[in-house]
Amino acid sequence: AIELRNITKRFGGNTILHGINLDIAAGSVTVILGPSGSGKSTLLRCINHLEKLDGGTIRVGEQLVGYHQKGSALYELNSKQAAAQRAEIGMVFQQFNLFPHRTVLQNIIDAPMRVKKQSRQQAVLKARSLLQQVGLASREDAWPSELSGGQQQRVAIARALAMDPGVMLFDEPTSALDPELVGEVLLVIKKLAHSGITMVIVTHEVGFAREVADNIVFMEEGKIVAAGPTQAVLDDRENIRVRNFLSTVL
Ligand code: ATP
Ligand code: MG
Repeated sequence: AIELRNITKRFGGNTILHGINLDIAAGSVTVILGPSGSGKSTLLRCINHLEKLDGGTIRVGEQLVGYHQKGSALYELNSKQAAAQRAEIGMVFQQFNLFPHRTVLQNIIDAPMRVKKQSRQQAVLKARSLLQQVGLASREDAWPSELSGGQQQRVAIARALAMDPGVMLFDEPTSALDPELVGEVLLVIKKLAHSGITMVIVTHEVGFAREVADNIVFMEEGKIVAAGPTQAVLDDRENIRVRNFLSTVL
């Protein structure tokens, strides 16, 4: 489970997240919707402790993200501790961020070998099964530049899964793709849903959200303005903000 309590985040003098509270059940799929600049990416980055908090706490499972507690005081984890914690939380970005000078297989086995100290053989076995899962079994020796955007994003998903994360965060995983490549990536994500991994997905693909999400969180100006079961939020004709947003993306 993921638990956000009163999360505040500022950049310079601007408050970007205004006391966000959110509970995400273990194994569930949550889609975050909202206009550009509403703080969706910042919220995801806080969950992964890529951003320091200005207030509040985040727990993933039993663990306090980014900090440890002594009495009532919080101390930031050192970079090694933070990296170990981040290994439990997979993240997939809009830009696929593969290592350009490493093959598909090397991209996937790097972190399991380096961070989890897996043997090469163990990491390769797992990588091959993940490549199969994302429909790229025959491409392990390809360079990222030889792949389409959709294929690169599927490798990025396999790479994140190679760490066996309990949580997967997706930040607009299909918005950098040509329209004809969006479907193959959404299909891979859809197959992952309800596999036991807790998933939080920022996307503008409302049709996908309707199909896959258990819950929808709707953000505006750094606040959650609607949250709940998917249908209840998306079909809430009373909520003008949600309705207006949907009319712009559908
Ligand atoms: P989009 O849909 O365009 O991706 P978003 O909902 O993900 O938008 P964020 O990227 O979280 O929005 O940004 C929220 C606000 O925080 C914006 O006003 C943005 O300019 C600001 N912001 C984000 N990152 C930084 C940063 N590193 N420094 C300063 N301001 C930032
Ligand atoms: Mg964003």
